[in-house]
Formats: sequence, structure tokens, C-alpha cells
Amino acid sequence: MVPVVNNECDVLVVGAGVLGLGHALAALEQGQRVIVLEREHRIVGASVRNFGHVGATVQSGELRDLALGARQRWLSVADAAGIEARREGAGLAVARRTDELEVLTELAGSRDSVRLLTPAQVVDRLGGAGADDIVGGADLGDDLRVDPRTTVPRLAAWVDAQDGAEIRWNTAYLGAEPVGDGVRVRTSRGEIRARRVFVCVGHDLDRVAPTVAADAGVQRCGLSMMLTEDPGFRVAPAVLTATSLLRYGAFADTAAAAVLRERLSAERPDLIAADTNIMFTQRPDGGLLIGDSHLLDDSLDPFLDEAVFDLLHREVETVLGRRLAIRQRWQGIYAARPDGPYLVAELAPGVTACSVTTGVGMTVGLELAARTVAAVPA
Ligand SMILES: Cc1cc2nc3c(=O)[nH]c(=O)nc-3n(C[C@H](O)[C@H](O)[C@H](O)COP(=O)(O)OP(=O)(O)OC[C@H]3O[C@@H](n4cnc5c(N)ncnc54)[C@H](O)[C@@H]3O)c2cc1C
Repeated sequence: MVPVVNNECDVLVVGAGVLGLGHALAALEQGQRVIVLEREHRIVGASVRNFGHVGATVQSGELRDLALGARQRWLSVADAAGIEARREGAGLAVARRTDELEVLTELAGSRDSVRLLTPAQVVDRLGGAGADDIVGGADLGDDLRVDPRTTVPRLAAWVDAQDGAEIRWNTAYLGAEPVGDGVRVRTSRGEIRARRVFVCVGHDLDRVAPTVAADAGVQRCGLSMMLTEDPGFRVAPAVLTATSLLRYGAFADTAAAAVLRERLSAERPDLIAADTNIMFTQRPDGGLLIGDSHLLDDSLDPFLDEAVFDLLHREVETVLGRRLAIRQRWQGIYAARPDGPYLVAELAPGVTACSVTTGVGMTVGLELAARTVAAVPA
């Protein structure tokens, strides 16, 4: 770390999650001096609580464009930052019913990076595990996979090591006012002057800028997640199945998705009621990250429902046809709103807030950040 001169910088970023670090990367590319404020002592937010799935294949519209840009940015920074970004076989959709296979078949007809698989090929990608009722699947060829526990911390270490960049941990942003041709930022450790400020506090946008968040309908979305013991087999891709084939834009846009939704609503109201997105990825030590469910509120209840964990656990066991021992449980939280997957808003002259408002920050965050920095003149 080469410290930024005193308490002055060109760009001040609030939040050391993937989005804040994406802003820092973009500002460094512009040759700017950057300070990142992070109120925690280390990264503990959504950016380490997720699946590490850069799910570019299954996005649609603007998110697809952002995801393909972010994918390139991950690949560009990965080697330098010591991040392992898995490119080959990084995404897999598993179909256990013909209506699920219909969704994949329809998508494969319009997207080259979706390649249909036989049941035997699916089982092979699941490391030999897999339910007897698998009817097919698809490789999701534009996806990347990273390990969520280590990737964003490594990105932070890399940013902190760059000339003219510094991360200040255990330092909270308290507000900012325009002064002269810049901004005076109040923090829990004194004032900092900056030319541009980017507030990337994820779901804490509702606390930092409550009016902006409320006007945009931003709420908190809580997700139940688990980590298993090493099951003894290796699953290279991020795996999507069942309700996740309804969730992402490219799946949801197919005509077949409506049929699937109808069937799941009738047969599996438990999966629909918990707003599940059945998926899993494997960490380097073999543990499977499995999830997830979605619960919206302004303040999330701290008491987590065991029935939801149990539902997710049993569902993934069924897909894999194996028993899985759970090692950890946690709740992840991200910002959510009904009318858009992200929010970029000017809080004051020179102060821009940027939050991803659906569960795709690892997929689109680096590109969204670069575009947001580019849109605010230096
Ligand atoms: C369970 C779960 C699974 C997910 N899976 C995926 C996935 O596989 N793929 C994908 O693309 N996306 C996924 N997502 C979404 C993705 O993780 C988020 O969109 C992304 O991490 C958000 O990044 P962020 O930097 O905006 O927020 P965060 O990572 O939450 O970072 C915000 C930071 O701001 C800091 N902060 C807050 N207030 C202040 C303040 N006043 N002063 C200083 N610092 C402050 C916080 O401490 C925090 O470190 C998942 C999310 C969850 C919760």
C-alpha cells in the first residue's frame, strides 16, 4: 500500500464489496488517486456470502450486456489479483423433468453458449453424483466461477497494493457535502476531501440514503444459505435447477418457463412460497454452497426459519442423489427493488450512489461500476 496523500484523493469509494472495488478499479484505470472506506475490519457483506457464480449465460437484455463486460473484467484482473476464475464448464443447468428440459432446449435454440447435455453427461459434470430421474441438462458456456470466500478479499488486497490507492478499514462513511470543486466527506475517523464520491454500500443504501432508497422501493432481501462437508465428489460448475430455471432472465423469457412455473406452483408450492432459487457450487475444499431462498423486508427478522434450510438441503440432496452433512448456515442480504436490477442516483453534486438491486452483483458488478465511474466526469 502506498498511502494516498493525507486525507485528499480524487475518488472516494464507500464500501469494499465487489461493487465498491469495481469502482476503485475503474478509477485506478483513469489514473485517479483512490481511497476506499469500509466500516468493517474485513469483508463480511454479500460479496463473500454468495455462490461465486458469474452467471452471464442466463442474463437477458441490459444485464446480459453488463454481465459479458464484467466477465471480461474478471478475466483481466484475475491473474494479477491471484483470483482463480474458472472458465471451462463453469455453469450447468440440470433438468429432472421434461418441462425443465423444454426451457433449456428453447434457450439453446437462441443462445450458442447453451449446449444441451445427455443425462450421462450431466452426471459426469456432477462428479458421478446425480438423481436417477435426470432427463438432461445444459452447459452454460459464458459463465465463470470464483470462490466467494476468497475472491473479493483478494481483489481488495490487490486494490490496496496499487500506487495511489488505499483501503481504510473500520472507517464508516457518515455523509458528504459539496465544497468548492469537490466534496467534503465525514467519516468515523475524520474528514476526507475528494473530487468524486461513489457510495457502494449494497443493501445499506436504505440507511445511508433513506429517501433515495425509499423512493426507488428498495428493500432488503434475506437469503438462507448453507455449506456442506466435503461430499467426496467434485462438481466443477455452478449448478442451477428447478426454481432457478424460472429466476434468471434468459430462462424466464422462454415460453416453456410459463409451463414450468404452473407445474411447480401446483406440485411444489413449498419451493415457490419460500421464493427459492435451487442452486449450488463447490468450494476448493469440497464443501458445497447450497441455497437459496428470498425474503423481502425493510428490517429483516434475525430469527431464521429452520424449515427453509431443511427444504433447500433436502432439495439439493435429491438432485445429487446423496446425503449431505451441513457444516455452516448463514443469511446473505442484498438490496432489492421491484423496478430495476440496479440503482444509480446522485445523492449530492459529486456524490453518486450505486447498488445492484437483485442477486447478480458478482455477475454484473465490475462492469456496472466501470460504466458508473465513466459517466461521472473527473
Ligand atoms: C446469499 C447470496 C448469494 C448470491 N449469489 C450470487 C451469485 O452467485 N452471483 C451473483 O452474481 N450475485 C450473487 N449474489 C449477489 C451479490 O453477492 C451482490 O449483488 C453483491 O455482492 C453486492 O455487492 P456490494 O459491493 O454492492 O455489496 P456488499 O458486498 O454488501 O458490500 C457493501 C459494503 O459496504 C459497507 N458499508 C455499508 N455501509 C457503510 C458505511 N456507512 N461506511 C463504510 N462502509 C459501509 C459494508 O460493510 C459492505 O462491506 C448473491 C447474494 C447473496 C446474499
